[in-house]
Amino acid sequence: MNDYILRATFAGDSGRIFVANTKETVNKAFEYHKTSPVMTAALGRTLTGAAIMGSMLKSDDDLLTISIKGDGPGAGITVTANNRVQVKGYPFNPVVDIPLKSNGKLDVSGALGYGTMTVIKDLGLKDPYVGQIPLVSGEIAEDLTYYFAKSEQVPSAVSLGVLVDRDYTVKQSGGFIVQMLPSADDEVISKLEEKMKNIKSITKMLDEGMDCEQILNEVVGDMQPKIYEKIPVEYYCNCTRERVEKALISIGRDELTDILEKDKQATLHCHFCNKDYHFYENDIRDILNRSAK
Ligand SMILES: [Zn+2]
Repeated sequence: MNDYILRATFAGDSGRIFVANTKETVNKAFEYHKTSPVMTAALGRTLTGAAIMGSMLKSDDDLLTISIKGDGPGAGITVTANNRVQVKGYPFNPVVDIPLKSNGKLDVSGALGYGTMTVIKDLGLKDPYVGQIPLVSGEIAEDLTYYFAKSEQVPSAVSLGVLVDRDYTVKQSGGFIVQMLPSADDEVISKLEEKMKNIKSITKMLDEGMDCEQILNEVVGDMQPKIYEKIPVEYYCNCTRERVEKALISIGRDELTDILEKDKQATLHCHFCNKDYHFYENDIRDILNRSAK
């Protein structure tokens, strides 16, 4: 696994920056979901954003979810990440075929349409933190920038990108998030704003062969960056037959007895890795017997 996130600060404690390479992770998502290029880009950008945000979580049990719902043909995306940066996600409609934008880029905002982005952070408290914004661009990075400003009051710059190859596999994928901390002075802020106006796209930098360290230097190289951590990123689905069985039990004994009598079998599907779990007559009877105890 070559995917990782670089976590660094710059200009003393003025800001922090996370740079991610997520090519293998997003390619795994493509293999699971057989997404068309525009949905590979939409899902990949969301996975990359979630991966970085997952790395910001403090505790091992914390879970971050980004849920996008739109009125476009792609309909939406759900992605989760934990602080070990295990990410997974799925598009509501994996195959969307729409024309490229006039600049030749995949039309992610056209695929998602108008809608909302909801960020849920389950931090082990009674109620999870929920922040919701309208999709301001539908291109994901701009939406996350808006989310950080609006819901978390943290001025941020977000860049996310996925380059899809001719054979539909993922050629490049990555991104960065820069956040200004309260101690940042105006000079650092305006310097960074200026930098953001002229910076190359993340996919261009990755495609030129730049690694996360080089991209970090490109963004904040003249502001004394200090690297703290290199965190591996992976696409990981934690579904097991045991977990799925629990979901089956949770529908209730009556419902389950009903299934046993009518269908004599049940199939449960994991959206994140597209795995089917089959439960036959014997299995269901077995579950009923065990849950009776
Ligand atoms: Zn799964």
